[in-house]
Amino acid sequence: MCAHELRRAPLDGVERPVCSRCGFVLYANPASASCAVVVAGRDVCLVKRKIEPYRGHWTLPAGFQEYHESPAQAAIREAREECGLEVEILTLLDVMYTTDDARKRANLNVYLCRPIGGELCAGDDAEATAFFSIDHLPDSIGFQNNQKILNDLRERASNAAALDRLVAKN
Ligand SMILES: [Zn+2]
Repeated sequence: MCAHELRRAPLDGVERPVCSRCGFVLYANPASASCAVVVAGRDVCLVKRKIEPYRGHWTLPAGFQEYHESPAQAAIREAREECGLEVEILTLLDVMYTTDDARKRANLNVYLCRPIGGELCAGDDAEATAFFSIDHLPDSIGFQNNQKILNDLRERASNAAALDRLVAKN
């Protein structure tokens, strides 16, 4: 703020970059990200990543929230950009604190969605996109939280007999 060099100093029990001249404190906060769990029947839409981290792995369409949009709008946009699908939000499944993206820690808003239009087509950041049966997912799932989201979805789907019923309930 005043162009003076920041030094790390303990504040509230945490080492933080602090300005000794004007007292500015640089607080590091998690970012907000959104994830679209797009389901159709017992199938869920995944994207094969073309970029790091987890290049070549299959993940749920997700990304950081833009400043001008809500978490739900971010999920809808990510589904459009990465998979070419227009989706409708059914419900918020989870909010997860995620640490396995080295770029930034984030609170990930996980939305259950269903496709209402568009055409399945991989976006610029993706090598491929496809629907997989929740019972036969690819081995290389990227991000620890994606594995947990898909495990939870499979469990809920088996309890509900079919994803359709899970979707119908929402
Ligand atoms: Zn300063």
